[in-house]
Amino acid sequence: MIDFSLTEEQIALQEMAREFAAKEMRPRAAEYDKGEKFHWDFIEKAFEVGFVTCGIPEEYNGGALSHMDTIIISEELAWGCAGMYTTIMASSLAFTPVILFGTPDQKKTFLQPFTEKPSLAAFCLTEREAGSDAGGLATKAEKVGDEYVINGSKCFITNGGLASMYVVFAKTDPDKGARGMSAFIVPRETKGITIGKEEDKMGHRASNTCELYFEDVRIPASNLLAKEGMGFIIAMKTLDKTRAPVGAGGVGVARAALEYAIEYAKTRVQFGKPIALFQDISFKIAQMAAEISAARFLVWNAAWRLDNDLPVGKESAIAKFYASDVAMSVTNTALDILGGYGYMKDYPMEKLMRDAKLLQIYEGTNSIQRMVVGREVIGPIKT
Ligand SMILES: Cc1cc2nc3c(=O)[nH]c(=O)nc-3n(C[C@H](O)[C@H](O)[C@H](O)COP(=O)(O)OP(=O)(O)OC[C@H]3O[C@@H](n4cnc5c(N)ncnc54)[C@H](O)[C@@H]3O)c2cc1C
Repeated sequence: MIDFSLTEEQIALQEMAREFAAKEMRPRAAEYDKGEKFHWDFIEKAFEVGFVTCGIPEEYNGGALSHMDTIIISEELAWGCAGMYTTIMASSLAFTPVILFGTPDQKKTFLQPFTEKPSLAAFCLTEREAGSDAGGLATKAEKVGDEYVINGSKCFITNGGLASMYVVFAKTDPDKGARGMSAFIVPRETKGITIGKEEDKMGHRASNTCELYFEDVRIPASNLLAKEGMGFIIAMKTLDKTRAPVGAGGVGVARAALEYAIEYAKTRVQFGKPIALFQDISFKIAQMAAEISAARFLVWNAAWRLDNDLPVGKESAIAKFYASDVAMSVTNTALDILGGYGYMKDYPMEKLMRDAKLLQIYEGTNSIQRMVVGREVIGPIKT
């Protein structure tokens, strides 16, 4: 039976995350959005309250939170500032393949240190010529004795310039296409890694996005995750788990926009009365509230399935595309409610709209999510 009532612990977690977002994120969001430098002080604070390592298992000193707990936190953090939220979420994205496929030794060596001091990780899949078509990546990893030698480059890597650990996807058998792909844990200090240009982005400007170059990067063979050839499956299983939190981010951004629009509509007077009294405005608000609730339930459904070990590929993809589309449409409508003021940087709405956009793109564009869902819903077709 599905029961979406939160436990007392989850309500306390939600309140704590909301308070953190209100006190530590919101007051700094406009400053961090300038993207002039990375603000480690925020990561230190998020680390202290356990948000950075909340998904790491207990035996490695992590928070061991459930998927439902994680998405409750995600919604609140994205409500605070989507860019700061992305920094934390991208680190969890890189922890996930190690949590799912790492040996106890790999987890102890590579995950446990994240619970000891504030630090970040990065998930390195995308390349210039291989975005949606991740199986077509060109980075190579060649086995030489008891080492792998990695050569290639990655782009658009969140935390790329800051991470102390990279999870890198590379071809060990290029002739086999996606089935020739493997996943490796690469510590930042390994010789041969160059951090390329930092991207100047439209939104999520508090987060760091970089190119990375790997030139004869030698890592021990024991840094291979699972087996050679498992890389594509590792990436897909990871993304199945992390797309619900992206959806939760969409709910958080949309909720922030709706709340601001309501507050504004109650105080903005035109034609002698608050604009909230105009039916068009109240209908817009009602529609946004309905879409946000629907998105939240889809996200919670995916998290509930994850916590109950049920198949989740379709539900995670639906949660991600629906909730991020809602974030985009709600921020657009909420901005309309502010009229010309919504377009100005003095008000938070234009940032929320810029931030919503990325949620439709990263961790697989929404077209790719629809492709995943379409395939499963339509099933086999006789031709
Ligand atoms: C700010 C930011 C942070 C990111 N962080 C990371 C990260 O930490 N790690 C990482 O590995 N990647 C990261 N990415 C990469 C992101 O996941 C990719 O940008 C995304 O998967 C799309 O790939 P692409 O940009 O190459 O677009 P393309 O794959 O070139 O797609 C271009 C367009 O074609 C469409 N399209 C492509 N194939 C199909 C198809 N078969 N059917 C229908 N439409 C299709 C897409 O939907 C899109 O509209 C990040 C990207 C950004 C912008």
